Amino acid sequence: MSEYHIETKCVQAGYRPGNGEPREVPIIQSTTFKYDTSADVGRLFDLEASGYFYTRLQNPTNDYVAAKIAQMEGGTAGMLTSSGQAANFFAVFNIASKGDHVVACSTIYGGTFNLFNVTMRRMGIDFTFVSPDCTDEELDAAFCPNTKAVFGETIANPALTVLDFDKFARAAHAHGVPLIVDNTFATPVNCRPFEFGADIVTHSTTKYMDGHGAAVGGAIIDSGRFDWMAHADKFPGLTTPDESYHGITYAEKFGKEGAFITKATAQLMRDFGSIQSPQNAFYLNLGLESLHCRMKQHCANGLALAGFLKSSPKVEWVSYPSLPGDKYYDRALKYLPNGSCGVVSFGVRGGRKEAEDFMGRLKIFAIETHVADARSCCLHPASSTHRQLTEQELIDCGISGNLVRMSCGLENTEDLVADVEQALG
Ligand SMILES: *Cc1c(COP(=O)(O)O)cnc(C)c1O
Repeated sequence: MSEYHIETKCVQAGYRPGNGEPREVPIIQSTTFKYDTSADVGRLFDLEASGYFYTRLQNPTNDYVAAKIAQMEGGTAGMLTSSGQAANFFAVFNIASKGDHVVACSTIYGGTFNLFNVTMRRMGIDFTFVSPDCTDEELDAAFCPNTKAVFGETIANPALTVLDFDKFARAAHAHGVPLIVDNTFATPVNCRPFEFGADIVTHSTTKYMDGHGAAVGGAIIDSGRFDWMAHADKFPGLTTPDESYHGITYAEKFGKEGAFITKATAQLMRDFGSIQSPQNAFYLNLGLESLHCRMKQHCANGLALAGFLKSSPKVEWVSYPSLPGDKYYDRALKYLPNGSCGVVSFGVRGGRKEAEDFMGRLKIFAIETHVADARSCCLHPASSTHRQLTEQELIDCGISGNLVRMSCGLENTEDLVADVEQALG
């Protein structure tokens, strides 16, 4: 499959049926798997043979779909998780534990920020947050001897900043640690972070990949390129024997290509059980089959809406990376030449009240906390997700009282622009 274009991989990668087998990915709706002898099961538990024994750790439906996403990203191994939150937690916790430190971009998704800044700190992992536009020197200064990873988002939700892959990958590798990138908003259709130096990619498949608002899910993909053994002292969990798995050393037994995902499955999935249900993996695969077609329309709608908003006197500012003149336009051209996403943020001229009134007049865009699916939707963070914050706290996290986040779905472009035009009044 690796020789094919992304569109072909969206449709066909992962599941390749044999003679007389179902054409569509089968849903293996079974918690457990049957074996003839205890010795067979023993070999599975020892990771001596590959196969399935319990769906808390692995399921064939999930693995077909994970293999598809791995091929779309150009990686060597992948796994599905129950949510995007679980994917980001596993991706970091797989290599960082109590006493370790991670450098992360400050504009990351609020849920991930909270996971890192509150919950993982409570687990004894320290984080330094850096601006996506920091200098090389500022980025360098964020590293500590115990730093184990660098984390950023290709396109940040909802800040819409674009990751400077060159800068963040260079810094991570100079310090001997991997760059983990959440590629949710761009999807591998618009950006493949491994081509720009990332080592691990994560997804909230809940967004464009599923694309229909049907199933919460996540994914982790390994590029297979990070050399854990070359930095063995930093990553003992991968480079020294795992006593909970009969003394297996993941990086030795599974190599660069398989160590990260095998460890995350064998330890983290075993112990936390944040697995995606096979039924949801099936829905996700239906979404992936049309992802390349849908992203084109999401992006065309986003660009048209951003262009209209920029020309409107009722609008104070617009943020959309693929819009000429945007602060991140040059970076988007470099890393997202075919388009970015369908999400546009803007400020309604006036303030909080004008923003709320605008939202109340919309007919096609529905008010939802979700983004990135087939139906257009919008959110006023100051009166919903961020309503507990004071005006000053809103400013500190880059959310003005008049900010509205619009997620362009798959409807007709003119209808969407006309809806926003009438609602601006
Ligand atoms: C939504 C989102 C998440 C969290 O994903 P869930 O599937 O909701 O758990 C993580 N990262 C980004 C960029 C997101 O947009």
